[in-house]
Amino acid sequence: MTAERSGAPGRVREVSSLANPLVKDIKALALKKFRDAQNAFMAEGLKLIIDALDLGWTIRTLVFAKSSLGNPLVEKAAARTVAAGGTVLEVPEKVLAAITRRDNPQMVVGVFEQRWQPLKSIAPATGDVWVALDRVRDPGNLGTIIRTVDAVGARGVILVGETTDPFAVETVRATMGSIFAVPVARASQEAFLTWRKGFSGIVAGTHLKGAVDYRGPDYGRRPVVLLMGNEQQGLPEVLAGACDLLLRIPQVGRADSLNLAVATGIMLFEIRRAALKLDGTDTR
Ligand code: SAM
Repeated sequence: MTAERSGAPGRVREVSSLANPLVKDIKALALKKFRDAQNAFMAEGLKLIIDALDLGWTIRTLVFAKSSLGNPLVEKAAARTVAAGGTVLEVPEKVLAAITRRDNPQMVVGVFEQRWQPLKSIAPATGDVWVALDRVRDPGNLGTIIRTVDAVGARGVILVGETTDPFAVETVRATMGSIFAVPVARASQEAFLTWRKGFSGIVAGTHLKGAVDYRGPDYGRRPVVLLMGNEQQGLPEVLAGACDLLLRIPQVGRADSLNLAVATGIMLFEIRRAALKLDGTDTR
């Protein structure tokens, strides 16, 4: 069932059926091929949606639970969606549960346009740090890394080769909203290597057999690209060969390596040590 809300601007609709085509389109965003076809993705939670609107992301649809009608923040987000030319759907909780595939869904869901940073527009300056991820597979790792990049004030993420989708629901959830704050670029391995030739900063790779302790280098003098290897295979020769440094995080114990997101976090806090004033001062 779809009904135009009387008195509301044209694009606010009450929808109760799971068979409604608008609902079906949003549900389809669970699959990458539909995200790509629609150039869209879904984000859950009111705070996150307000942040996204504040950061200028284009909202296509705002879906909210009937039970949150009257919440001034929800109504404001709805008004902003309509003003931006988007559609607002007022739905029962069962529709939100179906869209999010959760028993206890968030009361508000937004569908946004995807945004990619073109690789050729990335020209890091001194003090900038970008993270390049070789064939990252796990959405939880990618989301956690995007969140950490945001937290340390690094500039963004470059996805190299075939990777998991930053706009998958699991990845967006793991970013905890940082997907809207962190530019993401993508490149084939070949395109990344070509871009790297024109980059005069430090490409700092991490490798289990790295010759350099990660705490040694002075990262502050030039822009840095931190290059992290694939979860199963690590960095291939061709990428390792393109690095200025191959860094190792010392380990004891039986684990043969660190989790990718953990290793990236350790590296980022070391590289950003001076900028973060890691002396107990919270710089937020
Ligand atoms: N079996 C893989 C290998 O042989 O490299 C393990 C990959 S590890 C799970 C994923 C990535 O995290 C590595 O490619 C590297 O970039 C980084 N990493 C994990 N532990 C590390 C360590 N102790 N020193 C340096 N980098 C590490």
